[in-house]
Amino acid sequence: MKRGGLYDIAIIGAGASGLLAAIAAARLRPELRVIIVEKNAEPAKKLYATGNGRCNYLNTGLSPEAYSSAELGSAPEIAKTLFHGNAYGVISDFLRGIGIEPKESSEGRVYPRSMQASDVVSALLSAIRSERIELLCGFDAKEIVRVEDSWKLQSAERDYLYARRVIIATGGRAGIQYGCIGEGYRLAQAFGHRIVKPIPALTHLITAEDAGAMAGVRAAGRVSLIKLMGYGSVTAASDSGEIQFTKTGISGICTFNVSRHMRFEDGVSYRAELDLLEEYGEEELNELLLERRTIFAAEAPEAIISGLLPRKAAQYIVNRAGCLPRERCRDLDRDRVRRIAQLCKKLSFTVTGTGSWKDAQVTSGGVSLTEVDPAELSSRLAKHIYFCGEVLDVDAPCGGFNLGFAFASGMTAGLSAAASI
Ligand SMILES: Cc1cc2nc3c(=O)[nH]c(=O)nc-3n(C[C@H](O)[C@H](O)[C@H](O)COP(=O)(O)OP(=O)(O)OC[C@H]3O[C@@H](n4cnc5c(N)ncnc54)[C@H](O)[C@@H]3O)c2cc1C
Repeated sequence: MKRGGLYDIAIIGAGASGLLAAIAAARLRPELRVIIVEKNAEPAKKLYATGNGRCNYLNTGLSPEAYSSAELGSAPEIAKTLFHGNAYGVISDFLRGIGIEPKESSEGRVYPRSMQASDVVSALLSAIRSERIELLCGFDAKEIVRVEDSWKLQSAERDYLYARRVIIATGGRAGIQYGCIGEGYRLAQAFGHRIVKPIPALTHLITAEDAGAMAGVRAAGRVSLIKLMGYGSVTAASDSGEIQFTKTGISGICTFNVSRHMRFEDGVSYRAELDLLEEYGEEELNELLLERRTIFAAEAPEAIISGLLPRKAAQYIVNRAGCLPRERCRDLDRDRVRRIAQLCKKLSFTVTGTGSWKDAQVTSGGVSLTEVDPAELSSRLAKHIYFCGEVLDVDAPCGGFNLGFAFASGMTAGLSAAASI
């Protein structure tokens, strides 16, 4: 039960961005009274699950271009402000200063040296204690109202406290099982902030075609997301890596990365085109398959590609090319060989949806950046209200960029709020 009490800064949400905001504020101005309120019984619930329990918390390649806004597109101003110069060095040094030692892995992904997400949480909570920041769990903030020159934060249980500055660090809607239901949007809307429609991102794609026969197959390749509109089509996103086939469609990191760019609107549909043999041009592959037709003349049709692709994928492709199980490679005419080569290069699926909020790692969309100051992360509509983390309309691909944004924006919001007092 918390009734009353006046704080200098109150932060709503003890996730990655909120914890960093509190630590940065308290370090800049140790004399300030800082409190974090968290609706869950424990802080940082989601952080334990990040990076499959290893917490890929940064990427050495942090740059504005890694980020997009669903409303404003690639490299929005906020990303340019947060990630200029040696942003990676600054954030990494700050985190090292609270005991998080980095270990760099492939593609610039940065993990804690122990490869344990729990060690990142422990270090953050240790800093919260040593900076004498109050952490109040079980406080589900429902309302922020102006009372003279402070804000009154009211919880679902009618507990309340006052603060001179409030930082909204409530996250988005992704990872709903960790308590994220998009409460921050409602809090922001109460001040007149516009919310860019949130959609689940970094998740699998559901396809109309039944590719269940390939469930469990993993193959290296490129996924291109094609956006179809009444007047034509464009490649909305494309990424290479390990494609995983599931009972309902496709998954894997490269699929997650293109899922960020899917927005179903009236008259818009999507297709995923997979290139499962990226290293070959279509002509080159066609020639190779004609040779293999001779080498494997007496074998079933999938033999023509099964040394190039996992067997189940080979079977699926020759079936889609219209081959029959009783046929042999020597029965395949040039057109069918060509068709198989084309399918390897452009295996097309109609995308009917994405994973749910439970499956998604981030939210695309959120509080519109047009009403937030990109340097201070303060609201342009409500004085002394700040935002940080996933609640904002910013998202990035897998690889430590999203936690990078949570940490960078948390630091900035905390420093701005503290400096303004
Ligand atoms: C399974 C999974 C794995 C991921 N792995 C990675 C990874 O390896 N690398 C990476 O960069 N990103 C990863 N992400 C994304 C990353 O975790 C998020 O982008 C990041 O945590 C966002 O930080 P945040 O502080 O904005 O929000 P959150 O971490 O979601 O924290 C928000 C906090 O606010 C609290 N809250 C919400 N509403 C209220 C309210 N009304 N009152 C009080 N408290 C409230 C929530 O309970 C929560 O604790 C992963 C996400 C998931 C789901």
